[in-house]
Amino acid sequence: MSKADASARIRAEVKQWLAGEWDPELPLAQWREVLADSGWGCPTWPVQWCGRGLPGALGRVVAEEMKRAVVPGPPEGVGMMLVAPVLLEHSSEELKQRYILPTVTGEITWCQLFSEPGAGSDLAGLQSRAVADRDHWRISGQKVWSTGAATADFGLLLARTDWDVSKHQGITAFVLPMRQPGVLVRPLRQMNGHSSFNEVFFDAAITHHVIGEPGGGWPVARAALAHERRLASFPPLPDASGRAWREAIAERTAVAEPHKWYPQRAGRPDLVIPQARALGRAGDRVVRQEIAKLIELSWSARWMAERAAAARAAGQRPGPEGSLGKLASSKIAKQAARVHTLIAGTAGLLAGPESLLDGTIAEIGISVPAISIAGGTDEIQRSIIAERILGLPREPDISVGIPFRDVRVG
Ligand SMILES: Cc1cc2nc3c(=O)[nH]c(=O)nc-3n(C[C@H](O)[C@H](O)[C@H](O)COP(=O)(O)OP(=O)(O)OC[C@H]3O[C@@H](n4cnc5c(N)ncnc54)[C@H](O)[C@@H]3O)c2cc1C
Repeated sequence: MSKADASARIRAEVKQWLAGEWDPELPLAQWREVLADSGWGCPTWPVQWCGRGLPGALGRVVAEEMKRAVVPGPPEGVGMMLVAPVLLEHSSEELKQRYILPTVTGEITWCQLFSEPGAGSDLAGLQSRAVADRDHWRISGQKVWSTGAATADFGLLLARTDWDVSKHQGITAFVLPMRQPGVLVRPLRQMNGHSSFNEVFFDAAITHHVIGEPGGGWPVARAALAHERRLASFPPLPDASGRAWREAIAERTAVAEPHKWYPQRAGRPDLVIPQARALGRAGDRVVRQEIAKLIELSWSARWMAERAAAARAAGQRPGPEGSLGKLASSKIAKQAARVHTLIAGTAGLLAGPESLLDGTIAEIGISVPAISIAGGTDEIQRSIIAERILGLPREPDISVGIPFRDVRVG
């Protein structure tokens, strides 16, 4: 069957299925159960795990039809985008059985517990400790920067289980229940006034669930980071009515709360030309030149993203091209912030009701630095590009081959 025929067939199937099943007055949880049973909510996932095993290109066709019919899908955020794909790739049948369906229906939410005060870029230097105790593990230590941890039900946790092997080999990945006495979450306040991140402290916190094998956490971490680098931003909500949508919009508003400032973090290139016009700066030669640079960067990044999407649609796993995209978004954000500053001048520093776009321009300036840090810093992306795309020599790491307890970290 040709690609066009396959797309047309899937499109017709989705339409017919929706005509028989979609009822906007269903409770959201019930609708998501139906969606999970049918596999249309996660069409590229395996059939036994809420999917239909379709290739990426047909998965996009399904998503288009769902969007056209204005139907709510599975929940957005770290559970669906990052944790579930990692569980599908690396966890046992038992863990999939326990966690995949409730993640797809939105019954449970997740956070990512990787970074520590002394282990961000050098993630493999992490020092949170997990000790086996009969049928469970006890966790002690601290994480930081944990987005959404204050509200999450479970965390995807990396902890060290063996200090006598080299640093990448002694790490284990766990599912950690967040609501237990041994877990303390303390929100942090950022310079832009929002509070997305948390410090998380573990004091003999308990988990029974290892992802993969003890000591096999590093491949799990790498898979999670590859998914994280292509984490999508939240698409705009439709103007829709009915019980399922009311509940989906309420859920999405809560999930997106820690991410409210993310559009500003990306520099708001969409506002640059309207602002230049509104403030009478569109004729300024320097401003025009800087806007042209921004457009040049944005278009190249879009083409690169399309190339990466085509590779995924052809069945390839997310690879180092994610680093190119990540680095490009941070260059675009910085250039957009620079142009906003050129256009607005000192007025761009003001927040509050009388400020430019209700303080949005000021928020851009103090939110953009985050994009060069989150999900791997610019410098780390450059190293990945150098080593894995350009084939340059690897960065020397004197800790390789040495038991972790003898390595200086932090
Ligand atoms: C918006 C946002 C959301 C986040 N959400 C989460 C989350 O939910 N869960 C989670 O676990 N973490 C999260 N993080 C943490 C993030 O992954 C780390 O901040 C990041 O990996 C950098 O680590 P670090 O902050 O410890 O900086 P460091 O690693 O200490 O780096 C400090 C500086 O040194 C540079 N540097 C370090 N090593 C090298 C090297 N080898 N070569 C060249 N330069 C180097 C870095 O580029 C950086 O400029 C989030 C961060 C942000 C900003």
